[in-house]
Formats: sequence, C-alpha cells, structure tokens
Amino acid sequence: MAKPIILTVDDDPEVLRAIERDMRRQYGSEYRVIRANSGASAIDTLKQLKLRNDAVALLLSDQRMPQMSGIDFLEQAQEYYPEAKRALLTAYADTDAAIGAINTARVDYYLMKPWDPPDQQLYPVINDLLDDWRAHFRPPFDGIRVIGHRWSAQTYQIKDFLARNQIPYQSLDIEIDPEAKHLLEMADVDQSQLPLVLFGNGTSMPAPTNIQIAEQIGLQTRAEKPFYDLLIVGGGPSGLAAAVYGASEGLRTVLVEREAPGGQAGTSSRIENYLGFPSGLSGGDLARRAVAQARRFGVEILTPQEVSNLRLDGPYRIVTLADGSEISCHALLVATGVSYRKLNVPGIDKLIGAGVYYGAAVTEAIANSGEDVYIVGGANSAGQAAIYLANYARKVVLLVRGEGLAKSMSNYLIERIEKTDNMEVWPYTNVTEVHGDQALEAITIHNSQTNEDQKVPTTGLFLFIGAQPRTDWLGDTVERDQNGFILSGNDLLQEGKRPKDWQLDRDPYLLETSIPGIFVAGDVRSGSIKRVASGVGEGSIAVQFVHRYLASI
Ligand SMILES: Cc1cc2nc3c(=O)[nH]c(=O)nc-3n(C[C@H](O)[C@H](O)[C@H](O)COP(=O)(O)OP(=O)(O)OC[C@H]3O[C@@H](n4cnc5c(N)ncnc54)[C@H](O)[C@@H]3O)c2cc1C
Repeated sequence: MAKPIILTVDDDPEVLRAIERDMRRQYGSEYRVIRANSGASAIDTLKQLKLRNDAVALLLSDQRMPQMSGIDFLEQAQEYYPEAKRALLTAYADTDAAIGAINTARVDYYLMKPWDPPDQQLYPVINDLLDDWRAHFRPPFDGIRVIGHRWSAQTYQIKDFLARNQIPYQSLDIEIDPEAKHLLEMADVDQSQLPLVLFGNGTSMPAPTNIQIAEQIGLQTRAEKPFYDLLIVGGGPSGLAAAVYGASEGLRTVLVEREAPGGQAGTSSRIENYLGFPSGLSGGDLARRAVAQARRFGVEILTPQEVSNLRLDGPYRIVTLADGSEISCHALLVATGVSYRKLNVPGIDKLIGAGVYYGAAVTEAIANSGEDVYIVGGANSAGQAAIYLANYARKVVLLVRGEGLAKSMSNYLIERIEKTDNMEVWPYTNVTEVHGDQALEAITIHNSQTNEDQKVPTTGLFLFIGAQPRTDWLGDTVERDQNGFILSGNDLLQEGKRPKDWQLDRDPYLLETSIPGIFVAGDVRSGSIKRVASGVGEGSIAVQFVHRYLASI
C-alpha cells in the first residue's frame, strides 16, 4: 500500500516550506508529506487523492489565508476525508477562532506559530493525532474500482473481463453505495456515462472497452515481432499447453486470446478431475499458473485480441487481428475451443448480463446471495456451477430436459448435488420465456411431461447449454465437419485419399489440418473429448508435430 498522506496548507511560501520540511524529517519514512498553497488547491488535491483511493492521515492548515480560511478548508475537507485528523496552525491573534473551530469544524487540535522547537511544540501533538488515526484506520482498497448499476450488462462485462484476467477490483453499486455517488461527482461524470472505471493511478474512464482497460493496466495487445515460428489462436488449456511446450523447446511463440487466458476452464469454479490436484482447483487458479509458466518461457500473450482472418502465402500463414494488424508465422495452432449455444426465447437478449448469464457462475455468485436461481443444463459444467452457487443462493434449481442427470453428468457431482439441501433438480423442463425490463425478474418454465407452464420469480438464470465451435474466421481454408469442428490427421483421409488441395508426399500428421503447418487442439477439434486434460494433452502433442513440420520447410 502507498504511504498515507499528510497534507500541509499555507499561503506563505516560507512557512509552507518550513512546516513541510519539519514534517518530512520526522514522518517521511511512514507518511508522504505534500503541500498546497491555498485552501482551494488543497481541496483539488484531496479530490485527486480520493479518485486514486489514497489514504489521508492528517490535514495541517494555516488559519489565516485569503479566499478560504483554514477553518473553512478543514470543514470542506470532511466531505472527502472525514476520518483524517485535522489541525490548525494559528498565530496568537487567531486562538479564539481556533478554539471555536474545535467544536464547529471538528478540528482536532490547534498549534501555535512558531512551533520551535518542533520536538516540544509540534511532534508530541502530531504523534498523538497520528496514533489515533492509525488505531482506527482501515487501509483502502488498492486497485481498480468499477462503479455502475448492479443490473447493467456493461458493468457485468467489465467485471467479468477483470475477474477472468485475474485483476483485483472493487465493485461499487451506484444505487446503494454513497461512496459511488461521491466518486462520480469528483470524476465529473454523470450517471448516463456509467460504468465508470477508476484506476490506481487516478485515471478515470467512463464506459471503457476491454482494449482500453487492457492498455491502462499494461496487458499486451500487440505483437512485438512481425514473424513467429508458432502462432497459437486461443488461450484455453489447449493453447496454453502448446505455448508452454513450444516456447520451452525454443520456438518463437505468440498466443492470441480474445477474452482472457483460461478459456472455458477459466470460468469453472472447481475442476476436480485434473491430475495432480486431489482437492481440485479453480479454473482461475489453473489459468493464472499456466500464464505464469508460459510467460516464464518467453511466450508473448496478446489479450484481449481476436484473430479475425487467415490467409496463406507460400510457407507463411498470416493472421489478421481485430485491430487490422497482421502477424505471420510458419506453424499455426487453432485452439479456439467452443462457446455456449444461445438460448432463443422471448425477452432474453436485453437481459444478458443483467440477470441472464452464459456460464459465469463465479463472478455473479455473491450478487445472488439469498436469492432463488436457476441453471439450465445437465452436463458437468452446470453441476459445478450449481454446487458453487448453492453456497450463496437461497435455492438453486437445475432445469434439465431429460429424466435426470445420470446420462450427462459425472457421478461425483450428482452425489454432491443430492447431498446439498438447497438444491433441486427439475427433470423434463426448459425455459420458454424470460421476464424483466432493466433486470431479470422471472422466467417461465415448461414441463414437457405435464405440459404445464409456471412463472417463477428469480434474479439469476445461468445457461450451460451445449457447445459450438468458433471457426467462422477460418473462411474456406481448413476443412471442417458438418458442425464446424476442425478435421485433422486420419479423419481427413477419405477411403485412403488425402485432402483435396494437399500437395505433400505424406499424410497429414496427427492433429494437422487439411492445410500443412496448421494444427488443431482441444474442444474445437472434430471428435475431441472436451476435457481440460485432453486439451492440455493435445496442445502438447501438437508441438511435436510442429517441430517435424518446421524441419521440413
Ligand atoms: C464451467 C465449465 C466447467 C468445466 N469443468 C471441467 C472439469 O471439471 N474438468 C474437465 O476436464 N473439463 C471441464 N470443462 C471443460 C473444459 O474446460 C474444456 O474442455 C477446455 O477448456 C477446452 O479447452 P480448449 O483450450 O480446447 O478451449 P477453450 O477452453 O474453449 O478455450 C478457447 C479459447 O479460445 C479463445 N478464442 C476463440 N476464438 C478466438 C479468436 N478468433 N481469436 C482469439 N481467441 C479466440 C476463447 O476466448 C477461449 O479463451 C468445463 C467447462 C466449463 C465451461
């Protein structure tokens, strides 16, 4: 945490220098001593400090100043730092006013000028005030603050981006948090410009994009070099594993990730079946460890950055990024995973992020404390989310189309669900309508056995339905199956024949696509297992074939 601040105020430059010098000599190791030459400029300084969430311990002001007196300044300062200690420096003639101010402006002490020797006239009083301040001081949150409406989709999207990139933040709800309104005024932003993001360096950004946030917090979004041996698209488990193996084996490696490293696994509250973690680990933890490992080996991770196009030029595979820039490579690995299928029911679109979420149980769990929430889906991801949400919600209901969970969910999760008191499974059900204007208020559930509809109030609907590959950006380059998953290796051989435009005198390697040097790993591969471990395995195996390919060009 940055040092707490002592602010000294005086309009006489000589006195100001002297008090600042004496304060710094005695307190400089523990406090930052700063100065202002008028009440107005001291108030401006306090506003800036408040926006940066710095702690202010003591305000030490001269009483007799033009425009704004010391008492007036200390009175106004209460609005920004009510907990800071306040002391007046007065000449003998002002003592009556100073004594009065102890009551009216809640001034803690008045000190007489001159204060020589400071060991006797200044420090004992200041020590006492600072001890008292420390005793009640709670360090302010030392990171990014997001101010917005609880049910705003844009606020949710910013919080989700920060959480998935492992950036600590504090969320302030404009409707219930008085501090939020105050900060808005100080940043000179009105409610129509929300969400407002305040950074630790005092910068404030109304409604920033992910890229703007990324640049402000120092995430890398542009490649350092024009060319790499290996370019990986997608930073889920498959892409991260390939990055670690590729870079550790000497390949110049860059990874491009459009949201946050970790992929789907990064959104999981607890992965219990990944080898080596007997009590499970959260997806966020797995992602953080993998990113650190990849960076240690020198992988460049560009995020948030999206690959939007691929073209071929002789031995070069060239991708275009969403910002229009291009990166060239010899070997390309597509590890773009899958995303949830959208639920198309009336009323849903405008409430995404405002009570309706695709995945995202972790970030929204606290916001649903004490509420009834519904989860759609019967696979492991839905089960994990249900167990996690049950720690916060009053009741969690799993809505499944079929007769139960046995066919689609692992046993260990089914057992945990059965043992959790505030959890119910409603078989033969699906959501047919979503209700709410600004935020989710209710959903209509259809029961296919009884053919009945019921409308239930809720604040949270979490959707975990099916998987769709993200391969549109590949255009008509690599071959895919009828569902858009990428074909590779032997799956490309039809009756022993190689792919249409394949010109090499060998079959495609395992995990190699219909274009030499372009590989695929993880959930986006046709026939993949869709597990963290299998993605990690495929990502690392792909690198072995990348080496073989590179040796041949
Ligand atoms: C909530 C949940 C819980 C799960 N729990 C488990 C579990 O306990 N055990 C288990 O084994 N498996 C679990 N899974 C499945 C597992 O997470 C996936 O199988 C695994 O993440 C697949 O990894 P991947 O790298 O292939 O793809 P993904 O994880 O889907 O990652 C792909 C990445 O590519 C990025 N991307 C996509 N398109 C582009 C583009 N054009 N440009 C740049 N980047 C792009 C995406 O943003 C994404 O980050 C769970 C899945 C979910 C959703």
